[in-house]
Amino acid sequence: MEQLLTVKFNGVVEVQVPKGTTILEAARKAGITIPTLCYLKDINAIGACRICVVEVQGARGLCAACVYPIDRDNTEVFTHTPKVVAYRKKTLELLLSDHNCSCLSCVRSGNCELQELCKEYGVTNQDAFAGAKNPSEIDESAAHMVRDNSKCILCRRCVAACEKFQGIGVIGANNRGFKTNIGSAFEMDLADTACVCCGQCIAVCPVGALYEKSNIDDIFKAIADPDKYVVVQTAPAVRAGLAEEFGKPIGTNAQGKMVAALRRLGFDKVFDTNFGADLTIMEEASEFLDRVQNGGKLPLITSCSPGWVKFCEHYYPEFTENLSSCKSPQQMQGAITKSYFAEKMGIDPKKIVSVSVMPCTAKKFEIGRDDQCGAGLPDMDYTMTTRELARMIKRAGIRWDDLPEEDFDHPLGSGTGAAVIFGATGGVMEAALRSAVEWLTGETLPRPDFVDVRGVEGIKEATYHVAGMDVNICVASGLANVRKVLDMVKSGEKNYHFIEFMACPGGCVNGGGQPQVHASVRNFVDIRALRAKVLYDLDEANTIRKSHENPDIIELYDKYLGKPGSHKAHELLHTTYVKRVVHKKF
Ligand code: SF4
Ligand code: SF4
Ligand code: SF4
Repeated sequence: MEQLLTVKFNGVVEVQVPKGTTILEAARKAGITIPTLCYLKDINAIGACRICVVEVQGARGLCAACVYPIDRDNTEVFTHTPKVVAYRKKTLELLLSDHNCSCLSCVRSGNCELQELCKEYGVTNQDAFAGAKNPSEIDESAAHMVRDNSKCILCRRCVAACEKFQGIGVIGANNRGFKTNIGSAFEMDLADTACVCCGQCIAVCPVGALYEKSNIDDIFKAIADPDKYVVVQTAPAVRAGLAEEFGKPIGTNAQGKMVAALRRLGFDKVFDTNFGADLTIMEEASEFLDRVQNGGKLPLITSCSPGWVKFCEHYYPEFTENLSSCKSPQQMQGAITKSYFAEKMGIDPKKIVSVSVMPCTAKKFEIGRDDQCGAGLPDMDYTMTTRELARMIKRAGIRWDDLPEEDFDHPLGSGTGAAVIFGATGGVMEAALRSAVEWLTGETLPRPDFVDVRGVEGIKEATYHVAGMDVNICVASGLANVRKVLDMVKSGEKNYHFIEFMACPGGCVNGGGQPQVHASVRNFVDIRALRAKVLYDLDEANTIRKSHENPDIIELYDKYLGKPGSHKAHELLHTTYVKRVVHKKF
């Protein structure tokens, strides 16, 4: 039986925890939050920032709670003695001594872990340790993000996310001592590395040192231009995160208010990327059947996640032929907007400005890829993250709480339950199976649920017996897990027919463009599961749960595309890949 030890906090609260539990975790159980900056559960327990120090009876000096394991019964811990508080305050003052304190205009102001701690600890003098500052340059080279080291606190959370979640490691610490800075190896520009633009480093950064490249000024300008017809589409996962930016609990469904806000921002049409997701399933499920029936390259691997696609091109170029030739739902929707929709509405496609709201920063790279101009024009003009949309809403003075719930516009605003689950790991696979199985068997599924592929585990697999054949499938999210799967496929240890990969751990609900959640919450709450539940609830509530039953998709094929995989569908909805180089890692 597991050995339980008693820990007493502040001479009052006792909890029992398994041997080896850290003081930080035990304190949480006792209802006490110990502040942290560098600690990130599972990936960055380095005890470096010293903000989490506490007094432990019998121990010499102050102890870092994030790495101090409880190993004896009746351990007494004091979490906020005057000594502890003074130490934390001094640590914050030291951090500010080499910090560009431009809170007034900082992208993280109001949601910055450093700013919040300074307020909590009454740090009023940012020049308490005034002196020379470490010189730094802003790296704006990449398509998706900016690094401003004048605000970096050297916590290394970004480094851990890149290395441990994503198995990539294109960023790390350069130089030593006072000159230490975080960046790419040999101080290269990020754009020159094999960064895949996933934005997981941004998602975990506690301060304003990393942020997405923003297009919101351009989008406001386009909306104000009477000669432009500005269309917006929103990805499934955005509705599962956006409300957090307005103080709502993680796991709030923002769909109706989000649509109302976009309309009030002045977009001419508010469409749903769920339509593009249903279209993706039509093309991808038929591509899968075609490869199975006609001896094509297997396993077929999904191509919706641009971070994963770039990863494949850099690190596993031998698998680019396995990638589905389908564009992502965003790009398909963009191509259809500037072709079918433009023709249907009698609008000159050159006047259309196509904007997307995505949980993803890699989309900013994707829209500039080659072979993403289905209608002879770029499929997409601008893409913004969930966070940027929140900024637009706030800048426009739109009061979130007063917004009504509204519906998307048609015809590109209709989506099925299959489409909305694209935002969670396993969702694309489940959606594809709902259509592929019915097409293969010619029978209607009694229930369209494939629960084996649900849940936040990094790697899931299942075998389904369909029309006389065993179909082996695999789902993985987080590129470190993707690496493991690809290595097993390469070595012959695993034999799959169909694989879904998502770059971000847990899928798009946890994308690099989603609201940033402070470590004090994300270390203890599974934000991936809470946000995914929003999508599965929407799926369950939808009367149409299979992509091939979406009436607007059926009409699109009847009137315009012909059938999945047709010449026209290929022209508009499919793409090609390239092989990219990898630079030396740290
Ligand atoms: S990173 Fe935080 S403390 Fe620094 S300027 Fe931005 S909001 Fe202020
Ligand atoms: S965007 Fe992704 S790959 Fe690039 S540095 Fe950040 S975590 Fe690493
Ligand atoms: S960029 Fe952000 S996450 Fe990375 S070390 Fe600096 S403060 Fe920490």
